[in-house]
Amino acid sequence: MTKNINGKELAQKLRDSLKEEIIQLKKTHEKVPGLAVVQVGNVAASSVYVKAKTKSALEVGIEVIDHHIEEQTTQDQLLQLINKLNNQENVNGILVQLPLPSHINEQIILDSIDPNKDADGFHPLNVGKLSIAAHNDENLLIPCTPYGCLIMLKELDVSLVGKNAVVVGRSNIVGKPMAQLLVKESCTVTIAHSKTQDLINVCKNADILIAAVGRPQMIKGDWIKKGGIVIDVGINRIEVDVNGEIKNKLVGDVDYIEAEKNASAITPVPGGVGPMTIACLLRNTTIAFKNSN
Ligand code: NAP
Repeated sequence: MTKNINGKELAQKLRDSLKEEIIQLKKTHEKVPGLAVVQVGNVAASSVYVKAKTKSALEVGIEVIDHHIEEQTTQDQLLQLINKLNNQENVNGILVQLPLPSHINEQIILDSIDPNKDADGFHPLNVGKLSIAAHNDENLLIPCTPYGCLIMLKELDVSLVGKNAVVVGRSNIVGKPMAQLLVKESCTVTIAHSKTQDLINVCKNADILIAAVGRPQMIKGDWIKKGGIVIDVGINRIEVDVNGEIKNKLVGDVDYIEAEKNASAITPVPGGVGPMTIACLLRNTTIAFKNSN
């Protein structure tokens, strides 16, 4: 029987434990973690993510400092805001929702966030720490999506040591940090990307396959090793015909129905990695609070 890895349940479990922890932190420190959420402009998907992140943060007892600013904001104005938040006492984590408008250089903005307040774990210093640390340390600020994937893997009653892990995708926010985390768990890791030759056979060799490509249902059932574990990071919107009506549907990078036939465990889309990403953002904010107190 293939196990469906339920991201909603696992994220709820993580949020419940953070809520408990924040109650205790409030007793000890007489304050709670604060998360500044910065959104520039009105990209619809960003508004959905910001709303979900804000709601989850408030539910676990994190204070949210909302900065929704207009699309025309200049890079200098945004840098000034980040600088203010870097120095603001009640702000422990800063989240700048991506993508930013094209007139703003994302890397310059991400680099300007105080690494101690880097809720997304994207600052070069935190990327470096993740690379250097021998273990997936409790006080590191680690990119949320790959850390969420790791929690899901660890919830399975399977040792990761010595397993062949294949990460398809080499982005800075998912693929590369995912590979770092798996190396630290003593997996043998392959990172595949658009130039990889014979991708099908690379994937077939994976005891653990992480798909972070951004191509709807690209990874087919016969790419999956019998008994392999599949974590599908992809979130792709496709149009489907439902009784003659065209509707939007969210699908992953993996063909779930086919892959389920070979995998021993698999994450669904939606309801898999997505909720874990948000829960890990709250975890990072709480870690940043603890590190600063
Ligand atoms: P990205 O920056 O676009 O990176 C995609 C990666 O996939 C690149 O490394 C690219 O290779 C590789 N790739 C593209 N086409 C390929 C192909 N045909 N064969 C093999 N590799 C291929 O994307 P991302 O930001 O990492 O996101 C990946 C997916 O995860 C997207 O669907 C995104 O929406 C989703 N996502 C989900 C969450 C969540 O919370 N669930 C969070 C973040 C992202 P090259 O480097 O060679 O171009």
